[in-house]
Amino acid sequence: RLILALESSADDTCAAIVSNHREILSNVVMKQDQIHEQYGGIHPLYATQGHMKNISPAISEAIRRAGVAFGDLDAIATTEGPGMKGCLQIAMVAAKSLVGVSGIPLVGVHHMQAHALTCCLTEENPPQFPFYTLLCSGGHTMIVDAEEVTKMRVLATTNDDSIGNAFDHAAKLLNIPWSGKAPGAALEGFARHTEHLFGHKDEVDCRVKEYRQKLRVPAPSQLLFSYSGLRSAFSRLVDESDGGDVTRVALARAFQSAAVAQLADKVTLALSKSTVEPSSLVVSGGVASNGYLRERLSDVTGRHGLNIYFPAPALCTGGSDLNLPLANHSYHIYADNAAMIAWAAHYKLAKGELANPATLMPRAKWSLEDM
Ligand code: ATP
Ligand code: FE
Repeated sequence: RLILALESSADDTCAAIVSNHREILSNVVMKQDQIHEQYGGIHPLYATQGHMKNISPAISEAIRRAGVAFGDLDAIATTEGPGMKGCLQIAMVAAKSLVGVSGIPLVGVHHMQAHALTCCLTEENPPQFPFYTLLCSGGHTMIVDAEEVTKMRVLATTNDDSIGNAFDHAAKLLNIPWSGKAPGAALEGFARHTEHLFGHKDEVDCRVKEYRQKLRVPAPSQLLFSYSGLRSAFSRLVDESDGGDVTRVALARAFQSAAVAQLADKVTLALSKSTVEPSSLVVSGGVASNGYLRERLSDVTGRHGLNIYFPAPALCTGGSDLNLPLANHSYHIYADNAAMIAWAAHYKLAKGELANPATLMPRAKWSLEDM
């Protein structure tokens, strides 16, 4: 069975065709980063306009790349929520139109459920339920217990800032050049930098230790993330510092260590309080590409006898003959895409959980626990 899924909950316009045998026939992601960079975030009106422009080319490109005919499709899926209402509407209206002309079923999908189930689509040996997923991105910092396909519990989330935003903020404070990378990735590279530390290694280690003591993990006994305290404590350290290269590298390392320690500590705490025995920890989101994070979290899962999964590299990248601004760099299947929406829709289609095109509406807010 083949599902064509559409996703436009944030700034990426996505269309993908996936079979129930876990084959991703196409996975088109059209970016509009350049438009939003100047606003320091996603501008809802321009994002909606971008989707208006991109949705039709994304659909035709997904069908062309999959090499199937429209008549081969068994259902159309769309993201139902959560997300920006105006943005969600674009893919949803397109999906409704497609089912209107073809008469095939429509499926509405929870965006975060789709994120949590991505590993079941992409991993050669998918994790067994129950498993934990740790989402660390610019928009989220959360631990979710995926007990079953439709039974997800949010064990911890942030009550202020996300880890991704904290990384971005720290990179800016330290004046680290991004040079085309995500700010967090630039910070990671800078922290690993050892060239101009020649002869200063012990001094840096000593400073990292000193700074790190001032960047503590908040509320050690609570299953709650918080990155605003780290942000302000780090701002103070930077303000008080001499701004030299050795200092900046030490500051970057201390920040990374503190930011990641919070993830490791909260996962450990969640495991210690857990009534279920998760088989695995699935880590996703942009920050999950951080090498230091991978080491620290692997330590945690190693101690608890859990498998650990990290984002697979892009499954479908590269330019197109339409010359569309398709994602072609540092793109992870664990970032926003429509293949994951199609995969979550397959579970629902198999159970006959279809949407009514006349009543399906975008849900800007929608708890993962309310499915
Ligand atoms: P969401 O999809 O949850 O709404 P988003 O689109 O902002 O949020 P992602 O694209 O998953 O999230 O992640 C972007 C974040 O990841 C940015 O804050 C970026 O700086 C950070 N990031 C990317 N690579 C690294 C890295 N190697 N180390 C640390 N942070 C990183
Ligand atoms: Fe997302």
